[in-house]
Amino acid sequence: MRARYDAWQRELETEREREQRRASAMLSEYEATGQGWFWETDRHGLIAYISPNIAKQLGQKPAALIGEPFTNLFILNSQEQETERTLVFHLSTRSSFQDLPALAATGEEEERWWSVTGRPALDKFNNFLGFRGSGTDLTETRKSQRHVTELARFDSLTKLANRFQMSEWLEKILSSPREESRICSIFLLDLDRFKQVNDTMGHPTGDALLKQVADRLKTTVGEAGRVGRLGGDEFQVILPGRVSRDDLRQLGQRIIDSLSQPYSIDGKRVTIGASTGIAVYADDGTTSEELIRNADLALYAAKDGGRGRYHFYAEDLHSEAKERQQLEQDLRDAIAASEFELHYQPQVNTMTEKISGFEALIRWNHPEHGYLSPAKFIPVAEDTGLITHIGEWVLRTACHDLAQWPDSIRIAVNVSALQFANPALPTIVANAIASSGIDPGQLELEITESVFLNDDKSTASMFAALKGLGTRLALDDFGTGYSSLGYLKQAPFDKIKIDQSFVRGATVAGSRNGAIIASIVNLAESLGMETTAEGVETLDELDLIRALGCSHIQGFIYEKPLTPETATERLRTGLNAVARGPRSARAPRQTMLRKVLMQHGTHKYNGTIRNISTTGAMIEGLWNVPPGTEFEIHLSKGNVIKATARWSKEDRMGVEFAVVLELDDNGGVAVAQSRRPAEAGNSVRLRKAG
Ligand code: C2E
Ligand code: MG
Ligand code: MG
Repeated sequence: MRARYDAWQRELETEREREQRRASAMLSEYEATGQGWFWETDRHGLIAYISPNIAKQLGQKPAALIGEPFTNLFILNSQEQETERTLVFHLSTRSSFQDLPALAATGEEEERWWSVTGRPALDKFNNFLGFRGSGTDLTETRKSQRHVTELARFDSLTKLANRFQMSEWLEKILSSPREESRICSIFLLDLDRFKQVNDTMGHPTGDALLKQVADRLKTTVGEAGRVGRLGGDEFQVILPGRVSRDDLRQLGQRIIDSLSQPYSIDGKRVTIGASTGIAVYADDGTTSEELIRNADLALYAAKDGGRGRYHFYAEDLHSEAKERQQLEQDLRDAIAASEFELHYQPQVNTMTEKISGFEALIRWNHPEHGYLSPAKFIPVAEDTGLITHIGEWVLRTACHDLAQWPDSIRIAVNVSALQFANPALPTIVANAIASSGIDPGQLELEITESVFLNDDKSTASMFAALKGLGTRLALDDFGTGYSSLGYLKQAPFDKIKIDQSFVRGATVAGSRNGAIIASIVNLAESLGMETTAEGVETLDELDLIRALGCSHIQGFIYEKPLTPETATERLRTGLNAVARGPRSARAPRQTMLRKVLMQHGTHKYNGTIRNISTTGAMIEGLWNVPPGTEFEIHLSKGNVIKATARWSKEDRMGVEFAVVLELDDNGGVAVAQSRRPAEAGNSVRLRKAG
């Protein structure tokens, strides 16, 4: 009996030992996986056991940690004190705790987080023996949690606040109980030509560019406000507090200036621009929806006004935006409805006075508004991407019409920078040439300087591809753009077209335009290129251009743009061209772009002065005004003049002033300009009609 009992006891003992060995083997295996660890303290809170992997993480041998205070394993004075205080609290009150996050005292730069669980150990008389517990690593979980919060509030590319955080911030300002604290100003920014950089130079370049833009923006705005990225190439700045319009204006300009400086990305030079719309609490809205929408409208107006500008919100922008939207919609339908026409303006050889070719100029015969100027709808076509379609139609039509004319005639077709960035352009050109059967050398593509803004490889290869087809290339509007002479040497141009702004006023005494034209002609000749003077209107201008040595002339002095039928008719009478026009211009006009308020009775309209002389102006923006209509034109503060509409065509009209103005501006009156340099621009003084 006793022997049996002993044997049973021994068996029990070995079974118990085997179980303990199994448990301890399992524990060490678990410890070895690194997924968790164990710890034990004595009744004074000193470490009695710690898993070897923890000692390793802390850069110590397990033996060195034995006898150290358990709390030494943690950094207890970090920001997340809440939980650490609880840890100390539990240890001192000898109470259980579970999954407390704690920052490990690794001494390394990268943070390591643990989740710690512990229970007091008691003997059979309920005496406290110490703590026993486990821990797991929280670092990855914490990281991804933090990542998620960052994703929700920050833009991952630029590290700027994102749309969500910006709108949260704006809401917070606007919901402030004190009216005074709700005052703020909002800038909406959009990069000009960013899409082109992205498309032609690749997304990594686009991304690098956006980062640099973000840095410049932050530096420019500084402590004055907060900068965020709303997505794409859209940024926002919120300035809290009352800021004068003048200061806003200055900041707007500083932002545009800094963003328009060239960028260097992987050794390549990239240039973009920026446009800004500004809305101010409470003038332009009191809710965030209103303020953002109005800043957006102002941004639209800034872009419409020629980009690279800032624009304050104004009430009439709503109707302008509607008009533009309508124009966009109409433009979509215009191709299908065959509302486009090409008109052809002769280009005349200066020496032989024979027509050497035509420039194809697009016209939109709008069902309501009649003929619209390409200056008005080409920018819309570019913004909406419709230019690709329209451009292809222009190329095909121009080549097709040219095929009916004598072989000596060339056709010049305008190609916008956006078309130029399209890798399919050479194929489109080749197809147009092939299907019309013209000689490639008869086709001249007119490109503006804006294609050179970035020195990317695709520009050079596009030039090579187009030249490879045998077409000719002309540099249009020379002198109005970014005018770096460097690229003239590299790009294979056959012709430079001197912009009409140089021709205009060149005959006025004291003008330097003649000297500029002469040097362009010299440069072109030395590079083996032809020159065309654009916009020659008077006999005086013609004489001057001839004397300056331009090889070709295009202007109203010979011919306005002709319909295809008239052009064919014109060619039938021979190629000789006869100059017909006034000897000199009327009262010298100055071209300008200036918004003015026009009042007729109690109605107010917005117009833009396109050019002005001492006796009248051409104003754009009012449709089909009956001749004889009288207006009061608010030229500037306190400067109101009476004027009468004399003619009107589409949205343009000519008005005659009731008084004779004294203009001081550049249009040739150089003396006045240098006398008042601060106001060089558009100042107008009144003089009584004599
Ligand atoms: P551009 O290529 O510089 O074309 C010359 C412009 O000057 C034409 O204006 C023409 O009518 C005008 N012009 C010619 N001679 C005279 C003159 O003696 N006096 C005055 N005051 N103006 C003269 P238009 O037809 O309004 O075209 C404006 C611009 O629209 C063009 O400037 C060109 O940049 C663009 N454009 C025209 N057709 C197309 C097209 O098919 N595709 C593209 N992408 N752009 C086009
Ligand atoms: Mg042109
Ligand atoms: Mg031009």
